[in-house]
Amino acid sequence: VVRMESVVKSFGANRVLKGVSLEVAPGEVTCLIGPSGSGKSTLLRCINHLETIDGGRIWVRGQLMGYREHHGKLHELREKEILAQRSDIGMVFQHFNLFPHMSVLENLIEAPVLLGRCSRPEAVSRAENLLRTVGLADKRNAYPGSLSGGQQQRVAIARALAMQPSLMLFDEPTSALDPELVGEVLDVMKSLARSGMTMVVVTHEIGFAREVGDTLAFMDGGVIVEAGDPRAMIADPQHPRTRAFLAQVL
Ligand code: ATP
Ligand code: MG
Repeated sequence: VVRMESVVKSFGANRVLKGVSLEVAPGEVTCLIGPSGSGKSTLLRCINHLETIDGGRIWVRGQLMGYREHHGKLHELREKEILAQRSDIGMVFQHFNLFPHMSVLENLIEAPVLLGRCSRPEAVSRAENLLRTVGLADKRNAYPGSLSGGQQQRVAIARALAMQPSLMLFDEPTSALDPELVGEVLDVMKSLARSGMTMVVVTHEIGFAREVGDTLAFMDGGVIVEAGDPRAMIADPQHPRTRAFLAQVL
């Protein structure tokens, strides 16, 4: 579903991605770990073209993301085309970014109806199903401000799923939550993974990576230092930097 090839990204003189290659097959869960500032969020944001790239290529479902290639040169797509590509990719951030002035149900139906994906009644019935799967059917009329952080994050996941994406990106979805609320969000992500969703997850939850991840990638200094089977890598990291990082977080 995702193929990144030698992706390079700088902010001014600061080279943040130094040639990152990554492949995520359909139905696979790739977990991304690494120290602060190593480029994890930037990598994720490049996948759905929330950031432009300075080199390399990113394909999502076989489509070159954000660009059209002409005589070997990349030309950025128009806003409308980028939005169309992005609508196939769900993203969940550390902070839930729900629309505060809309009820939970309205949060879920806003984008699909606005983008003409389905009729309003269809969107409502799909939203109700999604709220059931994240355990929040009874909160359909509540406003985000009245929900706990864990509940808001589960709504954010349901809202992303309401667009029926073929890829879900998560950027530290549990790191802003009180410890007792982390489990309920990870449980929703686990069942989503089991349902066959393709996911890229930036996380500090090593337990989640070990249990749910098909691939674990360790990033440091703008490169993927080591990637592979999560259990094998956690039990026996090959690279000294991976070893040092895992020793800190385990
Ligand atoms: P964290 O674990 O703290 O979230 P991260 O691995 O997600 O870190 P990034 O957010 O990708 O790291 O940042 C990587 C580097 O890029 C940092 O040096 C950061 O300061 C820089 N950076 C990120 N976004 C921007 C931006 N919009 N403008 C300028 N520099 C940026
Ligand atoms: Mg980050």
